[in-house]
Amino acid sequence: MKNKKVFIKKILSGMLCAAIAIGSVLVLPQFELKAEAGKNHKCSYSWKTLSKGSAYSDLYEIQSCDICGEIRMRNYMRSEDFVKENLKKQIKEARKDWVVVSDLGFYHTLHDDVFVWLTERYDVTLVVTYEYEGTYYQTTFPAGADYSEFLQDDVKFYGMPGLNGKCGIISEAGGKVGSDFPEVVTLEGAEALYSHIKMAPQQGTVYSSYGDNHTINKTLLTELSARNDVTAVVIYEYEGMNYKTTFPAGADYTELLNEGAQFYGMLGLNGRCGIVTEIVY
Ligand SMILES: [Zn+2]
Repeated sequence: MKNKKVFIKKILSGMLCAAIAIGSVLVLPQFELKAEAGKNHKCSYSWKTLSKGSAYSDLYEIQSCDICGEIRMRNYMRSEDFVKENLKKQIKEARKDWVVVSDLGFYHTLHDDVFVWLTERYDVTLVVTYEYEGTYYQTTFPAGADYSEFLQDDVKFYGMPGLNGKCGIISEAGGKVGSDFPEVVTLEGAEALYSHIKMAPQQGTVYSSYGDNHTINKTLLTELSARNDVTAVVIYEYEGMNYKTTFPAGADYTELLNEGAQFYGMLGLNGRCGIVTEIVY
């Protein structure tokens, strides 16, 4: 009986050795290649974005060696998770009294968590745009709103088109969304603003964050002239101060368009053609 056990042990360890031997043969050449590459250089790693996260694409980044391509770290996030994480970051890190603008693509539901973040940052206004059943929507969550009603019920996800009028939320439908729309709205900054102006609801207000860019292209005035019912609000930073420039609906930009300049500094536009530039404290 004892001998039989030893015999089985021997067979098992023999099989294990064989498996390791086969494994080594399969694995070794790769090790050798890496070791060889390692001889010639010290790996220099940098992050590379293979796919930029957005409402339409997953985020995929790798940290790899610029010389031999060896991957040290990976960062992957589904677009759904990216959208939520990005929204969280935007709200939590927003400047005081800021308007956070986010394009949600095909996602038209919000999780309870968003109302928790907005309650913590009650000075922030959130404006989201999205597509729902082929129609462009813009939903505005105004600063100072009380969302305790949403946080106390059992509902976890809220369809945004249906939130209109609740807790001061304004959900407006805009134009029909073309088949090329997702590509258009993922464009950043000014290009995205032009698309939002084109798709805006009747008499709607469109918001955009320009970051540290405090100039506008003449194209903005042309787009606004074509959609005379739309108000555009651009928020930006200039020399450490936060500003908000409002291009009101119904304004006549002929005077500015006739000047022939391609770019305008927004601070200098205050008072011209009804444009208002304010400091946001
Ligand atoms: Zn390397």
